Amino acid sequence: MRSVWNPWHGCKRVSTGCLNCYVYRMDSMIGRDSSIVEKTQAFAYATAKNRYGEYKLSSTESPVYVCLSSDFFIEEADEWRQEIWDMIHTRSDVHFKIITKRIDRFMQCIPENWQDGYENVTIVCTCENQKMTDKRLPLFLTLPVRHREIIHEPMLERIEIETYLQSRKIEAVTCGGESGKNARLCDYEWILHTRAQCVRQNVSFCFKQTGENFGKDGRIYHIDRKYQIPQARKAEIDFHAVKSLSPPPKNRQQKYQESKEYDVANPFNSILLQLSKSPLYSDIFLTQKERNYYIAHDWEELRRETEEIVRKNLFHTVSKEKDHHCRQWGHPVYTAQRATACCCRKCLYEWHNIPPNRKLTEREVLYVTDLLMEWMKRDIQYS
Ligand code: SF4
Repeated sequence: MRSVWNPWHGCKRVSTGCLNCYVYRMDSMIGRDSSIVEKTQAFAYATAKNRYGEYKLSSTESPVYVCLSSDFFIEEADEWRQEIWDMIHTRSDVHFKIITKRIDRFMQCIPENWQDGYENVTIVCTCENQKMTDKRLPLFLTLPVRHREIIHEPMLERIEIETYLQSRKIEAVTCGGESGKNARLCDYEWILHTRAQCVRQNVSFCFKQTGENFGKDGRIYHIDRKYQIPQARKAEIDFHAVKSLSPPPKNRQQKYQESKEYDVANPFNSILLQLSKSPLYSDIFLTQKERNYYIAHDWEELRRETEEIVRKNLFHTVSKEKDHHCRQWGHPVYTAQRATACCCRKCLYEWHNIPPNRKLTEREVLYVTDLLMEWMKRDIQYS
């Protein structure tokens, strides 16, 4: 459950992402005019106190999303915004996230003491399609902001953001579809494409919700509002960026001892550490030829090949005699398979708890592919 603080309500459409704005949709049900921007009763919520003199808004509720029923930088709120900044500054114990489609108004809306940004504020720039991405992000990256994220919601098409991610100024990307009965399509392939760009650039990624009309493998699924978030969670494709990489250690064992340097949320730290302690797997490295192959190939191409190999070799249940593929040489993925106990269904079961007597699920294909890519990346970085 996320915390929301709406100091004002009402908004005006600014781009195609606003077409089916949920604020307008909800207000129309009660006959309210969404284009009128008004202060709400929650205006001073961030610093309001209870009868014991404690803040009603607890720091444990971080992050608090500000202005979800409006846009924080809308012109109509110019005269009220300074008070909100003061409250945000006072509540340095709470982290606030401000999502906006009006990033072009940012510089005229910041407070005097903003400098290079408040540490407790993340600015999230919304980009629903490529056009808005290419319009908003170049500006967004030049602004004085300590914490920066992107959200594609509603995501209306496949979007290229990798060049922006390369700036290393973006901490996370979130994707989601559109809700409501007139919702436009959101295709899973677009979501996976954004995810791949994030993984490649080591930027955190979140698949928030499917939206009402969700495309997958050429089919369109109509997903009821209450299942849109759970369905996205089920895909289990969120990615947590590695926060910091330690300098190259002297030897391989040290490499994994230093895995504490990795973000604890990285899903592969634990399994890679365990593997590194096993005599069966700890001394497997990429050969020079394989390293050359890895370096010479585009990451996306290599990932696609890896996924193909996983699908071909591990996807189906096969007889025990044939169920061993790690002896195929010449491609770094085969060494990665051996080093990560992904060489056969038996090892997959013993090390990764993936049962051998059925096909891999899509989620398991993704898991194995990502694990192999992560192992190869670390081998290249630390050898
Ligand atoms: S900016 Fe956000 S709140 Fe405002 S109209 Fe567009 S979608 Fe709705």
